[in-house]
Amino acid sequence: MGRQFFIGGNYKMNGSISSIKELVTSLNNAKLDPNAEVVIAPPSLYLLLAREHLRKGLEVAAQNVFDKPNGAFTGEISVDQLRESGITWAILGHSERRVILQEDNEFVASKTKAAVEGGISVILCCGESLEQREANKTIEIVTAQLKAVADKVKDWSKIVVAYEPIWAIGTGKVATTEQAQEVHAAIREWLKKEVSAEAAEKTRILYGGSVTEKNSGELAKQADIDGFLVGGASLKPAFYDIINSNQ
Ligand code: PGA
Repeated sequence: MGRQFFIGGNYKMNGSISSIKELVTSLNNAKLDPNAEVVIAPPSLYLLLAREHLRKGLEVAAQNVFDKPNGAFTGEISVDQLRESGITWAILGHSERRVILQEDNEFVASKTKAAVEGGISVILCCGESLEQREANKTIEIVTAQLKAVADKVKDWSKIVVAYEPIWAIGTGKVATTEQAQEVHAAIREWLKKEVSAEAAEKTRILYGGSVTEKNSGELAKQADIDGFLVGGASLKPAFYDIINSNQ
């Protein structure tokens, strides 16, 4: 059974009312691979705007969600609030949040649990720093990030994993197809051992980090690469070529 090709567009802290409307309108009108699942993640202020203008069949993701249902948590957004607003996905554990905002594995896992139990699908990010890669710790770091989630979440049917080596994010330095495939295969093997054979077979594993329309075709051919989480290029027309790179 093939896994459906998945493309996430992570706008990060970019955009304005007019530019997000433009991005959404041009995405609506673009000729996209009908077999690809496409999700865009604008900043939280524009989630409703994006949902309102985006055509049916394309989904919207928040770039974060909190792990408590409601209450005195200034600045946070709940799972129920997302669901009520038609936002069906959340990106969790992005390295920018892990590094800059100091989110640890436990917190990411707790938020992932809250999201999937509340009916929000999760793009769960993992990845190593350059220092960790050079110390041959890539698999150890990535599987520790995933294990924290597996300890709390048994049903992985609402989780898509995004492997994003930190040294490749926004740097123009993409992992080679071999480097990416090697880690993706290791993640799938880990899922088989630690979660279930079904999770290993069905979970999409995306690559992220300087994906462009130039490198996406080769990466998409790898057996364990099931799509991409795209940052910078998701704000450009190149995004459509990346979406269509599995055809
Ligand atoms: P990039 O970002 O494509 O700009 O490298 C990817 C990401 O952070 O998800």
